[in-house]
Amino acid sequence: AQKKPSNKSGPIIDHKPNPSFDQLAGYKERLALRQISKLHDLGDPSFRQHDGHPGAISSIEGRDVINFGSYDYIGLNADPRPAEVAKAAIDTYGVSASASRLTAGERPIHRELEGRLAAHYGVEDALTFVSGHATNVSAVATVVGKDDLVIYDSYIHNSASVGATLSGATRRSFPHNDMDALETILAETAGRYRYTLVLVEGHYSMDGDIPDLPRVLDLKKRFGFWLLVDEAHGLGCIGKTGGGMREYYGLSGDEVDIWMGTLSKSLGSTGGYLAGSAAMIDAMKYEAPGSVYSVALAPVLAAAANEAIQIMHAEPERVARLHARGSFFLDVAKSLGLDTGASVGSSITPIMVGSSPLAAAASKVLLEEGINALPIAFPGVPMNQARLRFFITSEHSEDQIRHSLTTTAEILSRLREGPLQDLMKSL
Ligand code: PMP
Repeated sequence: AQKKPSNKSGPIIDHKPNPSFDQLAGYKERLALRQISKLHDLGDPSFRQHDGHPGAISSIEGRDVINFGSYDYIGLNADPRPAEVAKAAIDTYGVSASASRLTAGERPIHRELEGRLAAHYGVEDALTFVSGHATNVSAVATVVGKDDLVIYDSYIHNSASVGATLSGATRRSFPHNDMDALETILAETAGRYRYTLVLVEGHYSMDGDIPDLPRVLDLKKRFGFWLLVDEAHGLGCIGKTGGGMREYYGLSGDEVDIWMGTLSKSLGSTGGYLAGSAAMIDAMKYEAPGSVYSVALAPVLAAAANEAIQIMHAEPERVARLHARGSFFLDVAKSLGLDTGASVGSSITPIMVGSSPLAAAASKVLLEEGINALPIAFPGVPMNQARLRFFITSEHSEDQIRHSLTTTAEILSRLREGPLQDLMKSL
C-alpha cells in the first residue's frame, strides 16, 4: 500500500531562502546591458523573428534582407530534395523516434545515415544523437573520468567543455591554436593521469580559422593521447569537397580517434554524430548518456541529413562555390581596410570592430540597410574585442557580398566619428 504524504510541515530552517530569479547576478547584468542598449538605441539582435528559410536571403520581421546569420553553408536547408525525403520519412516512421534505440529499437534510416557518415570519414562506424551539443557532452563525459585529463583549445565549443566538466576529469586549456602551449601541457602532465583526451575543432566559429592538425597528430604520436576533432563547422566548409580536416590535410580517418559533427549546419537538418572505430562506437551506443537515456534522432531528420550528404558528394560545385564566395568576401573586406582577423576565408569571417557598443550599433544600422550580421559583443567576448560575424554561404552572390561589405565599412567609419565615441570611452 502507498504511504500517505504527511501534511505536517517540518521545523522552520533558520537559513536565508533562495532569491527570486530576477535577483540573480546574471539576470541583473543582462537588465543593465539592456538598459544601456535602450538608452543608446542599440536594439537587441537576439531572438528576432525570421519567416521562412534561413538562407542567404531571410525575411526578418516582414522584410527580405541579405542574411549572414545562417549556418546553411551549402544551401541545402532550402533544397527541395531533402525536404521531399523528409516528408516521405514522416509518412513511413512518424515524427518522433519515441524512445532511445536501446528501448524502442532503431529504424533502417539510422543505420543508413551512420554508414554514410562512417564512409565520409573513412572509418568503421558512426552513431547519431539528437543534437550536436548532446553529442559532445555525452561523448567527452563517456570517454574520460576522474582519473583522467582533458586538454582543450580555449576556443572549444561550450558543449565540449560542458562534457569535460561533467566527466570529472582534470581540465587544462591552451591558448587558441597555440600548439607550443599544448606541447608544454602534455610534457608537464605526462604519466600523471590514466588517460588523456585532447579536444580541437576543425574550423573555429569565432574566428573562422583552423588548427594545425598535422602538428597535433605529431604530438599524438609522441604522447599517445586520444584526439577528438569537432567538425561542426568543418563538414561542407573545409577541404576541396567539404570533407573537413581529413580531406584538407590528406589524413586517413583512423588518425583521429573521435570525429564529431553536427547535422544542423552544412547538412541543413538537426542532430549530431560521432565517427571512428567500431569499438569506440559500440562503447558510445551502450554507455553514452545521450544514446542510452535520450530519444534517438528523429527518423525524419536522419532522412533529410542522409539525402543532404549524398547531394553534397554528388554536387561538389556547392562546396567549390562556397570557397569562391568565402575567399571573395575575404579579399573585398581586406581591400576595404576591414580587419578579418585570422579567417581562412571559407564560411566564417569576422569583421573585428573592437568596442562592444560599436559592434551592436553597427549591426543595428546594417539591418536597417537590409543586411543581417550579428555582433559578438560583451559578455560573449571581452568588452573591447567585439566583432561582427559573417556566415557566408554558397548561395550569396558576389554583388550581395560586395554591397554588404561596402555598407559595413561606411557604417563603421560613420559610427566611429559619431556620438557613440563618448559611450565607447565610458565603457
Ligand atoms: N560544436 C560546435 C563547434 C558548434 O558550433 C555547435 C553549435 N553551434 C555545436 C557543437 C552544437 O551543435 P548543434 O547546434 O547541432 O547542437
